[in-house]
Amino acid sequence: MPEWLTHVIIGLLLAEVFSVRKKSIVLLGAILPDILVKLTLIKLFIPIPNIDYSVLGALHVPFVFFLFTLLIAPLFRYNYVQTVLWLNLGAVSHFLSDALLRHVTGGGVRLLYPLSLDYYTLSLFWPEQSYLLGILALVLYGMIIILKKYKYQSKAFTRVGS
Ligand SMILES: [Zn+2]
Repeated sequence: MPEWLTHVIIGLLLAEVFSVRKKSIVLLGAILPDILVKLTLIKLFIPIPNIDYSVLGALHVPFVFFLFTLLIAPLFRYNYVQTVLWLNLGAVSHFLSDALLRHVTGGGVRLLYPLSLDYYTLSLFWPEQSYLLGILALVLYGMIIILKKYKYQSKAFTRVGS
């Protein structure tokens, strides 16, 4: 998995591409699949019931995560459908960037679950090289911001000129 900062930058890039107003929800969706799996680390600090938490790993599967977002979307005070879409937009960025990574022993993302149990990966980056993906996403994000600003300014100039 890329580090969370890379996931956040890629989520931010997608939120900007799709002009999402509530970017924070997209960013939450971009890191939630990893955070939920890592929740068991809380037992290092506070005692929690000693049960099997491996079921949380299922939340790192796109289809299961989608079902999960259907359940948690009412917790947000925004439109239900938009919240589900924004969370899953972030999650799509998460799962696709996870699918770019190389793995020593198998691995990847179950992109087509429940239609297929196969793991998919493009094997482009080692996990420790994922910062390159973050830098690329940051450059693209900056370019989109500049393009949008230029487009907005040229529209404003046209309105004033006409
Ligand atoms: Zn992940």
